[in-house]
Amino acid sequence: MADLKLNKESHVSYIKSLDSKRQDYEYWLSEHLRLNGVYWGLTALCLLDAKNTFNKQEIIEFVRSCWDAKTGGFSAFPGHDAHIHTTLSGIQILATYNALDEVLEGEALKQCISFIKDNQLPDGSFQGDRFGEVDARFVYSALNALSILGELTPEVVDPAVAFIKRCYNFDGGFGLCPGAESHAAMAFTCIGALAIVGKLGELSADQFENIGWWLCERQVPEGGLNGRPSKQPDVCYSWWVLSSLAIIGKLEWISFEKLREFILKSQDPKSGGISDRPDNEVDVFHTIFGLAGLSLMGYDGLIEIDPVYCMPTSVTKTFKKYPY
Ligand SMILES: [Zn+2]
Repeated sequence: MADLKLNKESHVSYIKSLDSKRQDYEYWLSEHLRLNGVYWGLTALCLLDAKNTFNKQEIIEFVRSCWDAKTGGFSAFPGHDAHIHTTLSGIQILATYNALDEVLEGEALKQCISFIKDNQLPDGSFQGDRFGEVDARFVYSALNALSILGELTPEVVDPAVAFIKRCYNFDGGFGLCPGAESHAAMAFTCIGALAIVGKLGELSADQFENIGWWLCERQVPEGGLNGRPSKQPDVCYSWWVLSSLAIIGKLEWISFEKLREFILKSQDPKSGGISDRPDNEVDVFHTIFGLAGLSLMGYDGLIEIDPVYCMPTSVTKTFKKYPY
């Protein structure tokens, strides 16, 4: 396996081919994830040092068309309902292009901030939208988005941190709400949320140790990482688990060599793209998180990713650090 290599050119052309189908019905994943898909594709291109593959102005216009003047949030596709998760994607795309004020200024910016803050509930959690689905992912999305906008306040942060702490489980993992089963994606959203607001110190040394163990036990003999005990490995956990380990400074607790091999074996060597595990169909979601995992492990030739924001560090280093 020594000659397994990242096929950068084919990944760039795979993502480019997706963008040329932006108006098609069968584009990327599905319409309800379109704006998220653009963020995943753009971030993957940034890591491949091919940011200019997308037409910047066209993408900004698409993001603008997803902004909902009624609520102030972004939807996945023009005419859909705004949601916290897609609002984060819209903001991340604009920030990556250093173009936030091209879409969000004045009244629009105020409306967007209110949209995010108004979805916070009395227990500190956030609902994704007015339909009220609640979990730790939306706390992360909201704090991330407000952080990029430089609009975090103690009124928002303090109850959110209290909620996140209640999602911690004794096994060292985090659930999507207090008492829910530990899941690796929730480790990332909870630890990432605490990191964004400078509150990692709210966890004890014992908790850090337990979290590190729970995370590194996600590596299976094939080298890949799973989301929960006794589940199959999946390339996207290369991100959820590794980023969490990176944030708590325990990245070396897993075997890089075996994980790298698992991710590289999940590439489509001809047409590009990365799948959830070897020999499966590729998609843009697993492509970005596979590349992001490789970047965190310092893969040669990939641009550095920020484990907290899942954006290039060249972009995130410009964000104001809370408390301001
Ligand atoms: Zn996956």
